[in-house]
Amino acid sequence: MIKVAIIGAAGRMGQRLISNVVESDDLVLSGAVEAAESPFLGMDAGDVAGVGSQGVMIVEDLNDGVINADAVIDFSTGKAVDHAEIAVSAGCAIVIGTTALTDIERARLAELGAEGGRLVVASNMSVGVNLLFCLCRQAAAILGENYDIEIVEMHHNQKKDAPSGTAVTLAETICEATGRSYKTDVVHGRQGMVGARTSKEIGMHAVRGGDVVGDHTVIFATGGERVELTHKASSRDTFAKGALRAVRFLATVAPGFYDMQDVLNLKRSFNGESM
Ligand code: NAD
Repeated sequence: MIKVAIIGAAGRMGQRLISNVVESDDLVLSGAVEAAESPFLGMDAGDVAGVGSQGVMIVEDLNDGVINADAVIDFSTGKAVDHAEIAVSAGCAIVIGTTALTDIERARLAELGAEGGRLVVASNMSVGVNLLFCLCRQAAAILGENYDIEIVEMHHNQKKDAPSGTAVTLAETICEATGRSYKTDVVHGRQGMVGARTSKEIGMHAVRGGDVVGDHTVIFATGGERVELTHKASSRDTFAKGALRAVRFLATVAPGFYDMQDVLNLKRSFNGESM
């Protein structure tokens, strides 16, 4: 059995992670961590997640949370680097789903992988979205520069960051496949007399409302036709199940800094060549 601690245990994702860990045959909940201001501190994590008492109390200090854990899953809203440093120094693998990481934070997480930590960091852990990344990479390369590319994402009305981490990864993937730059070629929304779009720009649009778990569409439009690739998540379980796959993956691989494309073996073209 792989012992798993959850950071952000009382959050929307934290509760689904706990439920999926409890339902699995090969994982066991060993720790649950929440923010200092959380009203759920001291409560049983299983009760908070609605799956019955698990004998695991929600604590504030990750150093307490990682005791006995083999792996940590972090879906909170900050301090990903601090969490990773504690997990790695305790000898735990860590799966980070927290989004809106800065370039500096990502670089430090990659360093931790090079220093002997085992990490999976991914803005979206769903299998379908990771296939979407793969398909967009192929579509952008095949369709070429005559197709205008726009990304539209929609999420629930409580989401704090915009654009979504997934939309950013989609744009980064397309930039990498087509020689564009995220910093100079991605245009966030449009307002006023902005003029005609340039052929190189990638339009990025964040829609918020209701209880939408996560929709992403990438549009490739040219004269006479357009191709739209869409993924719609209808349950947070898709992300939780992906995170558990990442935990199992880290139990089998050498130390390093990985993403979900590694976990799902999608870093290859459809004819089997490495990409
Ligand atoms: P949420 O606000 O419902 O839950 C976040 C929880 O983290 C809260 O309970 C909060 O108290 C807790 N928290 C905040 N800081 C903490 C800290 N320092 N230590 C411990 N706990 C802390 O949010 P959510 O919808 O569950 O999403 C959480 C994160 O996961 C967000 O960044 C979101 O964008 C991301 N997310 C990622 C994926 C993915 O597949 N990678 C999927 C869904 C959501």
